[in-house]
Amino acid sequence: SDTNMTERFDCNHCQESLFGKKYILREDSPYCVKCYENLYSNTCEECKKPIGADCKDLSYKERHWHETCFHCFQCKNPLVDKPFAAKEEHLLCTDCYSNEYSSKCNECKKTIMPGTRKMEYKGNSWHETCFICYRCQQPIGTKSFIPKDNQNFCVPCYEKQFAMQCVQCKKAITTGGVTYREQPWHKECFVCTGCKKQLSGQRFTSRDEFAYCLSCFCNLYAKKCAGCTNPISG
Ligand SMILES: [Zn+2]
Ligand SMILES: [Zn+2]
Ligand SMILES: [Zn+2]
Ligand SMILES: [Zn+2]
Ligand SMILES: [Zn+2]
Ligand SMILES: [Zn+2]
Ligand SMILES: [Zn+2]
Ligand SMILES: [Zn+2]
Repeated sequence: SDTNMTERFDCNHCQESLFGKKYILREDSPYCVKCYENLYSNTCEECKKPIGADCKDLSYKERHWHETCFHCFQCKNPLVDKPFAAKEEHLLCTDCYSNEYSSKCNECKKTIMPGTRKMEYKGNSWHETCFICYRCQQPIGTKSFIPKDNQNFCVPCYEKQFAMQCVQCKKAITTGGVTYREQPWHKECFVCTGCKKQLSGQRFTSRDEFAYCLSCFCNLYAKKCAGCTNPISG
């Protein structure tokens, strides 16, 4: 009856009377503070104590903290209402995070702040503006680059610095190329001195360091028949 309801006002769990005591309602049932905290409170990550009903429960990724326990792992400054970063199990203020855990630029040795553009290559990091070609000192950005001897080169610089140069036109040989007299030539540059046809893949001969196709060589240098004036080859 109604009388019973008002006379009996017990903790839903331990059945102790709640008259004159602090209690907490949960789904319309009253609990003494002790039972409520044992049954329903989260445990604080920091102090390992229950987060009582009268405390603010701060949570992040299913972990819970007292308001006063929610601070930077490194500098202990409060993180309530502040941006923070999580590193492994720890929460860090953004200052500590960037000082301790952000990557350092391989070039200028300064911190690369989280969220700024950076280049990463073989476990090293650079500010985007610090990732420059060793030769021309210009930022490589999104262009392709070629690493060599712990330095990075933009492609044009790499070719200038390291690629073989054609002895004829002095430009880099990127593909193919032929070797004549132990020197590199473009296929297109290695031509008959006489008729300028490409000699690559053809029989040729040389005289005074100049290369000739066989027909030009015969015309120019072979003995000629005194009768018909055709060259005598072989
Ligand atoms: Zn109780
Ligand atoms: Zn705590
Ligand atoms: Zn901090
Ligand atoms: Zn830098
Ligand atoms: Zn360059
Ligand atoms: Zn050439
Ligand atoms: Zn020729
Ligand atoms: Zn003849």
